[in-house]
Amino acid sequence: MAKIHILGAGALGSLFAVSLFRADINPCLIARDAERAMTLRQTGIRCGGASYPVDIAAPNALANKDIECLLLCTKAYDSLPALAAIAHALRPDAAIICLQNGIGQHAAIAEQHPAASVFAALCTEGVTRTGTGEIVHAGVGHTDIGQLFGPSKKLPDELSKQSLKVNFSTDILPTLWRKLAINGAMNGLTVIHDCRNGELLQRLDVYKELCALVEEIANVLNASGHVDASLDLFEQVRNVCQATAMNTSSMLQDFRAQRPSEREYVYGSLLRQAELAGLEAPMLKQLNQQLIRRETV
Ligand code: NAP
Repeated sequence: MAKIHILGAGALGSLFAVSLFRADINPCLIARDAERAMTLRQTGIRCGGASYPVDIAAPNALANKDIECLLLCTKAYDSLPALAAIAHALRPDAAIICLQNGIGQHAAIAEQHPAASVFAALCTEGVTRTGTGEIVHAGVGHTDIGQLFGPSKKLPDELSKQSLKVNFSTDILPTLWRKLAINGAMNGLTVIHDCRNGELLQRLDVYKELCALVEEIANVLNASGHVDASLDLFEQVRNVCQATAMNTSSMLQDFRAQRPSEREYVYGSLLRQAELAGLEAPMLKQLNQQLIRRETV
């Protein structure tokens, strides 16, 4: 079996590295540069009180054309620069599996890597980086992976033989749009109202806004042909708000920490669909503008 490489030694990349390592699959985790790779080799990847001596490499230490199967675990906006940094090591026909939220990066990757097989994933694990090489896996979820672009390719079975639950899907797009719709309904509002997920249901003014936004997003999905993703959308959003009531959305965490957010890969993608379908989407536009203003403060 070809070695599985993981690009992005953050929360999710480290979680997959540990899980594969524990299943004797020995992946290679690619850090941003030689200095970070050396630090991570010294600390190991720590999770749940144990330290795992995962194989860690810097981009410049990778052999030419060595990577056949890559789990891409950077934030969506870092995808292209991160792939460019390992371009020498990536086989043109590699499988690139984007374990990222958002939509838009897959097409951009496929355009730059036309012979590659590009996969998208819906991942519901909850993991946080708490220190250098240290992660906390607080929410056990699952990952669905399906191909979106490039020559059809079978992924290594080993990916589904680890403690994390991984399923292969033949039709990932509706799942992706549904997740995007739920994120679009919740994440921006949690930033604007600076609140936890559960408060979207509890505060009357915010709840009314949430209802109207869900309706607008469902209309956009319907008009742009993603009908499955729009079905029962409000119920889905309410379930996620309830199940994650005490959580702070990843977008709010990014805004609070003044880090870049994945806004463009959520709201940019929804607005592009609205435009293609000839819809106005005034709430989405306004929310996106409010978020952009906050990014630049
Ligand atoms: P994260 O902790 O910030 O990790 C991203 C990693 O990418 C960082 O380690 C960063 O390196 C690395 N990176 C960025 N540019 C790079 C480059 N040019 N070369 C090599 N590495 C590079 O983020 P995350 O929470 O793991 O999230 C990753 C993706 O998974 C996001 O799309 C997120 O929405 C999605 N996701 C996350 C979770 C979760 O629970 N965390 C669940 C589902 C989906 P540095 O450390 O050097 O900055």
